[in-house]
Amino acid sequence: MNRKLIYSLSFLVLSLSGCTQNQTDNTMVEKKLTPEEKHVILYKGTERPYTGKYYDFWEKGTYFCKMCEAPLYESTAKFDAGCGWPSFDDEIPGAVRRITDADGHRTEILCAKCGAHLGHVFEGEGFTSKNTRHCVNSISMVESPPRRGFMIKRKNY
Ligand SMILES: [Zn+2]
Repeated sequence: MNRKLIYSLSFLVLSLSGCTQNQTDNTMVEKKLTPEEKHVILYKGTERPYTGKYYDFWEKGTYFCKMCEAPLYESTAKFDAGCGWPSFDDEIPGAVRRITDADGHRTEILCAKCGAHLGHVFEGEGFTSKNTRHCVNSISMVESPPRRGFMIKRKNY
């Protein structure tokens, strides 16, 4: 009887700590993002054109996901589409997932690793030889080599 009770209690405690762990993880991800970042990255908003950090930014390097730091785009794929958002004609292979947008006709692009909303992709516009334009919100990305503790540092400035 006692042994059975202890067994049940142990199981209950394990189950509860499992739930708590999941909740903590979700909360931590959200805490790392500012309200503006959440609006775009989690709730699929769009930053206003010509306001983002990278629409007129031409340094050489790699663009990483703001939320999970996965590499998304190389600066060599970036071009000026004159639309007010950073534009790329190619992604790093496997880095970006495409789904049909909630509006039913555009194609939404997400970070393949964490599902962060990046923007939309358009094809057949003829901007570059690849005929593809990834129209990405600056706020969804960070142009910097990732390093350990990067997210914590970013939160503090
Ligand atoms: Zn990501």
